[in-house]
Amino acid sequence: MIETNNTHDENLKSWIESANAPDTDFPIQNLPFCVFARACTYESVRVGVAIGDFVLDVYACYESCLFDDESFTVAVGTNNYCLDHSIMKKNQNLQSAFRRRLVEILSADADEDTQKNVKRNLLPIDEVQFYMPAHIGDYTDFYCSIFHATNVGSMFRPENPLLPNYKFVPIGYHGRASSVVISGTEIVRPKGQNRADETAPPQFVACKNLDYEMEVGFFVGKPNELGETISIDDAEAHIFGLCLVNDWSARDIQAWEYQPLGPFLAKNFATSISPFVVTMEALAPFRTEAFVRDENDPPPLDYLSSDANEKAGGFDINLEVYILTEKMRDENSEPFLLSRSNTKDLYWTPAQTLAHHASNGCNLQTGDLMATGTVSGREKTERGCLLELTWRGKEPIQLPNGETRRFLEDGDEIIMKGFCERAGFRRIGFGECRGVVLPTE
Ligand code: MN
Repeated sequence: MIETNNTHDENLKSWIESANAPDTDFPIQNLPFCVFARACTYESVRVGVAIGDFVLDVYACYESCLFDDESFTVAVGTNNYCLDHSIMKKNQNLQSAFRRRLVEILSADADEDTQKNVKRNLLPIDEVQFYMPAHIGDYTDFYCSIFHATNVGSMFRPENPLLPNYKFVPIGYHGRASSVVISGTEIVRPKGQNRADETAPPQFVACKNLDYEMEVGFFVGKPNELGETISIDDAEAHIFGLCLVNDWSARDIQAWEYQPLGPFLAKNFATSISPFVVTMEALAPFRTEAFVRDENDPPPLDYLSSDANEKAGGFDINLEVYILTEKMRDENSEPFLLSRSNTKDLYWTPAQTLAHHASNGCNLQTGDLMATGTVSGREKTERGCLLELTWRGKEPIQLPNGETRRFLEDGDEIIMKGFCERAGFRRIGFGECRGVVLPTE
């Protein structure tokens, strides 16, 4: 577990004024990584760091001799087009040293020459196009919210909502890495088998019950060899950082196909992620205890249990989901808030899911993405997908302009946000994860 240090000092200021705005997602205490290129150019993509309203071009800084320590050459100097070939696969000491150097050159205390040198390598964030932060070799999605699992279970199996394995096994399925897309990518409504009429054969039609799922993902940094397991106490050393995830879901296809092997085409047509990877070190001030289990619940098995995980394995990340329909866009309306939830309510921590994933010797690789599953809380307002919010379409949502939604319509945009706040520390944010639904082709 990474301790807080002076890079988390809430009084740290940057010479970049927009990084000092109280509501910015990217103060000097955050410094999330991204991969970007200047929009509408043929410039090559490279690694960047978000700071205030800018992206810092890390490779250009290296060329400007701002990272002259030899160890940083290794971190940023080669194959600098994605994180899994640079900083993501380095050890945590080097990542940490690199963060300290970034704070030095961006801090209000930096000398004038340094500031001048850095300034040449800053691009306004709205002039930048973002790309996938890493080559994702494998993507696994878990089912960590007991509230989501209980709600969904009770729709399909009212007499037996939570299956007997839930409190023992961090349930997951292997998603599809090739269809993970960066925020802003348009999502085409998939076609698939629908069997709404149980007395007739299924039809192959455009998905009728298209949904989003508000999730948080983490990228594997340090890999493990095939056959090698990862202990719960080592698990976090294998996690590089976190991002927002929208696991788009076709509920009608899912309901028909999911038994007996779980989700398949209902989930693998698209998964959106936010462009910024917030590092484990940046998140150090926002750790919480793991979920406090009911006294009647079984304790986690030994390989999923440790004092450190119990004390601070959780993350206090506030999540918000907004909808902006086509009509709302035409009317110039603000996006409408659908739900608020928090990762601290997850039954399983990221360390537990990672230790479980590797517990059979499965090799995890740098750049692999793992997601929490829909983050829902106890309250109705904390439900992280439409399936739960509208109770499978039975209780439509009323939008302020008179529109209603059971599931997503063509033209709807889903906007996800995440941020951390704690007294004594600077607020940090995750940026946005957005996607517009397009009609079936
Ligand atoms: Mn999911």
